Amino acid sequence: MDRTAENHPGNVRWHLPAAAAGVAAIYYAGAKLGLALTSAPLPISVLWPPNALLLAALLLSPRRWWWGLIAAVFPAHLLAQAQGDVPMVMALCWYVSNVCEALIGAGLMAWLGGPGPVLRSARSVLIFLCVAVAAPFLSSFLDAAFVVAVGWGDVPYATLWEVRFFSNMLSVLIFVPALVTCVQAPAGEFPRLSRSRAPEAALLAAGLLTACTIAFNFGSIQPAALSLLCLLVPFLLWAAFRFGPSFISTAYAGVAVLVIVSTSQGHGPFVQDASMDAVLPIQLFLIAMALPLLLLAGLNQDLRAAQGRLREARGLVEAVFRHSPDALAVTRQSDGHVLQANAGWWNLPPGQSGRMPDESELTFGDADGQERVVLVCTTGVDVDGEACDIRMARDVTAQRRAEADAREQDRQLKHLARVASLTDFSGTLAHELNQPLAAILSNAQAALRMLDHTTPNVTEIRAILRDIAEADKRAGVLIHHLRLLMKNSDEAFAPLDTNHMVEEVLALVHGEFISRKVELKTSFCGDLPQVRGDRVQLQQLVLNLVLNACEAMEQGGRPERVLSVGTHHGADGTVQILVTDTGPGIQPDLMPGIFKPFYTTKTNGLGLGLSICRKIAANHGGSLSVRSSPGEGANFRVVLPSAHAAR
Ligand code: ADP
Repeated sequence: MDRTAENHPGNVRWHLPAAAAGVAAIYYAGAKLGLALTSAPLPISVLWPPNALLLAALLLSPRRWWWGLIAAVFPAHLLAQAQGDVPMVMALCWYVSNVCEALIGAGLMAWLGGPGPVLRSARSVLIFLCVAVAAPFLSSFLDAAFVVAVGWGDVPYATLWEVRFFSNMLSVLIFVPALVTCVQAPAGEFPRLSRSRAPEAALLAAGLLTACTIAFNFGSIQPAALSLLCLLVPFLLWAAFRFGPSFISTAYAGVAVLVIVSTSQGHGPFVQDASMDAVLPIQLFLIAMALPLLLLAGLNQDLRAAQGRLREARGLVEAVFRHSPDALAVTRQSDGHVLQANAGWWNLPPGQSGRMPDESELTFGDADGQERVVLVCTTGVDVDGEACDIRMARDVTAQRRAEADAREQDRQLKHLARVASLTDFSGTLAHELNQPLAAILSNAQAALRMLDHTTPNVTEIRAILRDIAEADKRAGVLIHHLRLLMKNSDEAFAPLDTNHMVEEVLALVHGEFISRKVELKTSFCGDLPQVRGDRVQLQQLVLNLVLNACEAMEQGGRPERVLSVGTHHGADGTVQILVTDTGPGIQPDLMPGIFKPFYTTKTNGLGLGLSICRKIAANHGGSLSVRSSPGEGANFRVVLPSAHAAR
């Protein structure tokens, strides 16, 4: 019987005949033993092993083998019965009832127990015990009926049923567990014991043999025999606790075999001429012993499996605990005492471990004076009934440093892009500055000339000086804005008037519109809420969109160069800035690319403007999007949350 045959259908044809021959031989031997134990007035044996052996064979075989095995035992059955001078009809009837018993048992076991090893858990043992009762119980009705119908002997039906039931149940309890658990025994378990366990097993076997010899040689059909049988109990318990189901089942079967041997030699409880009344107590004793022993073995297996699972789980938790890159510790809530901690925990600066809040980020100096940032988190747990905390601390120094570096680089990049865009129209700026300076110069010269007059016209000179002051202011504002944009300042978020911020940008690039012959149209929304933002960054955003639009309109598009800049109060409460031009627009397939860094279609372009604009918008909790019909121009939309919503 190859346990792996089920998984290898190709092997089945090769293994089935061998298995069938083996089962037939065992069945024959079992039948001979059963017939040898049949008492004179009873046509039914006191211990009938063949059915149990067939049941064990079915339990260990794939279901498609069952009919092959059942057919194989037929000649073995007939041969054994013929040698026992059993009439042919009776032999055939018993074949049917024997097969019925094995099929009921195997069917029930498969139905209730499902796949998986048999008798290796308390549940499986309980199911087996039900099967060990049900199969002989049901088939014995048929068996006894056959005997009465054939007229084999003159024992009443009820007695026939009773004898067969007990003898077959005992046989099932003796033979099936031993065979099944030994064949299905995992490596290291009986009969494949390791060297270290073999001496203990040998000692146990010797002890059990001695106890059996005493019990079965001195035992007779008297109550004293029962007390002598108790000598076996400690050894069977030893087997159940230390060696698992295969050893205990085999030990139990061994005891039963010794009973049979001593019986055949005229000793002990199973003497040939024993009457039914004398046999029953021994049968009941063996049955009663089998039930707790098998259950004990099953429970022990469950316990071992649970211990194994627990060990595995503990090992897993310990491995995670030990090898975690985070610092971990279990601390007592009452006094903060560390019950268990990994190496990472002990590496934390001394004194910090005890004072960590539940969830926060802590910054402290380590032994080398370096600043370290640690993210801590605490979860309450119960350890042996004591309130404890699992504390986790993750060193995020490198992460925070990298974030700060990235922020700094981002700032530098924005600044660079800003300076680059200013240099783009530096010519226009110089021209813009030149105008007030020229006005100041000519006005100052005029004033000087007037002062040369004998009676200088004070009113005129005052007007000239006022003009000088105005021109100076204009130049001052321009320079102020330029300085702001050129400065590499830190982010400074504050409430802003968007309209004013956009107007300032438009004033700055005013000269650009003139030199590029761009007509500017503005439409500012009157009741626009304030936004919260960094003025320099937002102006950089608008400046970039406006300059891009002016440049695009030089490249083509509609003949009239109109730049529309406006603000809008979105229905969702957002503040929107719209920059629309009449340039060539953007081809749909290029749309996704224009916001990517270093995408440019300009010979001197950096391709960073729009990607930085999008970052600025996102940084303010908003967005930047574009719509365009090629040939018709482009429409950029900046959406910003109002200061109220951004708070
Ligand atoms: P750069 O101006 O250095 O090229 P940007 O990121 O500001 O970098 O722009 C990327 C590209 O997007 C531009 O080269 C241009 O092809 C396209 N683009 C930007 N604005 C417009 C616009 N208003 N109309 C058409 N194309 C535009």
